[in-house]
Amino acid sequence: MDHRSARALLEWHIDLGADECIQDSPINRYEMPDTAPVSIRKAAQVVPDPSPAQARPQIVAMAQVDTVAEARRAAQSAPDLAALQAALAAFPHCDLRRGARNLVFAGGLPGARVMVVGEAPGRDEDQEGQPFVGAAGQLFDRMLGAIGLARDATEPDQAVYITNVLPWRPPQNRDPVADEIDMMRPFLERHITLAKPDLLILMGNAACEALLQRKSIMRLRGTWGEALGLPVMPMAHPAYLLRNPAAKREAWADLLEVRARLDQAGGSA
Ligand code: URA
Repeated sequence: MDHRSARALLEWHIDLGADECIQDSPINRYEMPDTAPVSIRKAAQVVPDPSPAQARPQIVAMAQVDTVAEARRAAQSAPDLAALQAALAAFPHCDLRRGARNLVFAGGLPGARVMVVGEAPGRDEDQEGQPFVGAAGQLFDRMLGAIGLARDATEPDQAVYITNVLPWRPPQNRDPVADEIDMMRPFLERHITLAKPDLLILMGNAACEALLQRKSIMRLRGTWGEALGLPVMPMAHPAYLLRNPAAKREAWADLLEVRARLDQAGGSA
């Protein structure tokens, strides 16, 4: 292959979202057993016609899988966080899993009073299997530290528990789409129920869309809402704050709101 063709091929891969080298030899994910692509979710039952004159197989039935109902069933049947992580790892219907290196389930301390819901793993999170470890994650840690919280704290009062709306990295870090949020919502809701926080911080639009069914974060931020019977504080995503440092002032006010609510409520927010 000449260098022009090789370059065109490389650019084509990048356009499709394959924008980094992961390993030396390729994996054919279509051959992996638990990764049935969404595009063939309409499971077709193929029955060969017995008549030799019409030996071609005929498609006789199309059964559409309700992926949200499947997600609900899988999530509800998980009795604890470890089982929920296993259920997510086995969930075949979200196409994002096929392009991701790792499932990013959660970070921090399960049982912490504060649970943070972000958007989706980025490149660094996908590599490490942990939420908020890239540049936005460093700001995230500083923000939490400013109100006396840390992901590595061992006491529920000082710790945070962290997850994302989507557990797999979207290609090229694009925003989650509504279908993906709808499909993953049952897992997120179950996650929150099992983690039993006193309050939630929703970082960015995707978290607000998933739990408040609203997504204008800059209008929602700073005002307490409610989801799953818990107080929720929407605030700007740290990645947005990195791009718009002027918005840090408001984020600081939102963090102080969270601190005040924790102090007021003592054992429960
Ligand atoms: N942004 C998020 O919303 N979550 C992460 O885990 C990392 C970046």
